Amino acid sequence: MAGMLYLVPTPIGNLGDISKRARETLESADFIAAEDTRVTLKLLNHLELKKPLVSYYEHNKSFKGEKILDRILAGETCALVSDAGSPAISDPGEDLVKQCAAAGIPVCAIPGPCAAITALSISAQSTGRFCFEGFLSTAKKSRREHLDSLKKEQRTMIFYEAPHKLLNTLQDMAEVFGADRPISLCRELTKLHEEIWKTTLGEAVEHYRANDPRGEYVLVMAGAPAGEDADAGLTLEQAAHRALELTGQGFGPTAAAKAAAQGTPYSKSEVYKQLLVLQQGQQAGE
Ligand code: SAM
Repeated sequence: MAGMLYLVPTPIGNLGDISKRARETLESADFIAAEDTRVTLKLLNHLELKKPLVSYYEHNKSFKGEKILDRILAGETCALVSDAGSPAISDPGEDLVKQCAAAGIPVCAIPGPCAAITALSISAQSTGRFCFEGFLSTAKKSRREHLDSLKKEQRTMIFYEAPHKLLNTLQDMAEVFGADRPISLCRELTKLHEEIWKTTLGEAVEHYRANDPRGEYVLVMAGAPAGEDADAGLTLEQAAHRALELTGQGFGPTAAAKAAAQGTPYSKSEVYKQLLVLQQGQQAGE
């Protein structure tokens, strides 16, 4: 008879967040499949547990997945863990769960730490309806396509981001969603230097242009206001004023005009031309 796959969430910073059931599951499993066995070994040492470990990560998952499946089909129980948080959520494991489902192997998910949900709950953004967008691509074109597809999204959006990519991502977000869009940057959750900064995309861009981001981040961004179509009723002058504000926040005129033209009936070049008129007016001291 087939064994079982357990999905075991592990702490995202505070080791005290391992649950009793997660611990018991690790203890009773025949073996543990871990994203990085060195990281999991530290957790096992902390829990004073000894267990056979096999590695299961992004680049060996198709080959290792088969082997894990064979062992479960032979009757063993496997506990799957990632480096931190819930396995299968922007982590290896999604494929293994699908393979188990296809092979009729029972899967049991133990509830526990997840950076996305921890961030959402503390973000002070609306939590009634939300969508999880995971990591954006490192390639500029696909990152922009992903963000463009969310222009009209009214639900709260959750993103994972690495610190070295944060500024580029925030800049792209500000161009797509506008500098005024509220965002909560949730940093180092459950750790000593946990910080929740509730701000706007424009202010976040300005801040991280001057300060290097450190630590792990979840970005929780407000959805588009329900009456966003109000943008369609803006005058060209109002759209250009919006672009002018963006240039004041450090955006180049082309990017500002493009962002300000979104949702309005005007092209970016129309807004750009009007922006130049406003800038000339400013220089002339109007
Ligand atoms: N499966 C994990 C989960 O459910 O929490 C997420 C794994 S994903 C590979 C790692 C990303 O989660 C990080 O880049 C960061 O965006 C986020 N993250 C993990 N731990 C975090 C923490 N303590 N504070 C803020 N973000 C965190």
